[in-house]
Amino acid sequence: MDERKDHLWKVAQEAEERIEDLMKAGSNPVGLDVGTSKVVAAKRKGKEIDTGAVSFRSFTKMSAKERDAAISAGALGLQLSAWVEERFQLPEPSLIDLSYETDPEAAAAALRQYWGLGERPIKNMVHLLEAKGTRVFALAENTRTVDAFSLWRREQPYIFLNHLKTPERSRLDAAHELAHLALHKHGGPRGRKAEEEANAFASSFLMPSADVIAIAPRVYSLNQIVELKRRWGVSAVALIYRLHKLNVISDWQCRMFNIQATERGFREREQNGIDREHSAIWQMVMTALWKERITRDHIAKELHIPAFELDYLLFGLASDQCKSVSENGDGAARLRLVPDGWPH
Ligand SMILES: [Zn+2]
Repeated sequence: MDERKDHLWKVAQEAEERIEDLMKAGSNPVGLDVGTSKVVAAKRKGKEIDTGAVSFRSFTKMSAKERDAAISAGALGLQLSAWVEERFQLPEPSLIDLSYETDPEAAAAALRQYWGLGERPIKNMVHLLEAKGTRVFALAENTRTVDAFSLWRREQPYIFLNHLKTPERSRLDAAHELAHLALHKHGGPRGRKAEEEANAFASSFLMPSADVIAIAPRVYSLNQIVELKRRWGVSAVALIYRLHKLNVISDWQCRMFNIQATERGFREREQNGIDREHSAIWQMVMTALWKERITRDHIAKELHIPAFELDYLLFGLASDQCKSVSENGDGAARLRLVPDGWPH
């Protein structure tokens, strides 16, 4: 194992251990059974810890403080999920293990097929993930250089997204983390290879080859790319990469478009951008809770976490709680949130 990989290994291992420690040290009002988690079980048996369980894409760029903040957000997300799931039936995880698949493009196609998505563009990645049983949370501001991360815990997948990134970038991050959940659940490749696989999966999952080739068989200008990219909800740069990969544009065009994209500042901000995606599940949960007169502060108090942390995790929905209440709601104590019929 070379030095860099060894470093990544240690950081990932430390991250997972920290989540376990936080779960144990912090209040555990929902009675999460940390003792049976696979990390603790693995330690007990003296087995190797499955570092694939937590994926941090940019942990080499992260300061220790940011890493701690991200890990805390992870632990809080798990606690909050458990609290909500005592009260609501949320969609069951519907994610296949694709670790056998060595080609990320084929893996993305297999998952699309399993989810019945065909070659259609995905309107809302957060809603799709939620409908398929992944819990999606947002990261707080003190995790600026953390792109996103994901983890499996007790057969439940989680994704944490950074909302300081552009909406297009967040979608790509969500698809990237989905790749880690499906491809690297049992460890698998680490470091650079895993990242390359996840990037390739994300690109083909959001921009299926048949649809891209049908819609954009020939591309002549960057302006055309700026128009087209909204269909797949991706950045201009991500579409340039995909078009090149699918041989729609040549090496030379790819270079030229990339230079122009940089000149026009597309790496910092998108032109013809899309709206930010929000959670549908947490919106419904907060609305239903409000009808029961259970507020953000109530939940924060019960979980012993600051209310603002709750706000971050729930995409800022907790603070909008009152605004989202519909007068015609049924006010059911147990809201059944099922995958079928969810918008995506
Ligand atoms: Zn990654």
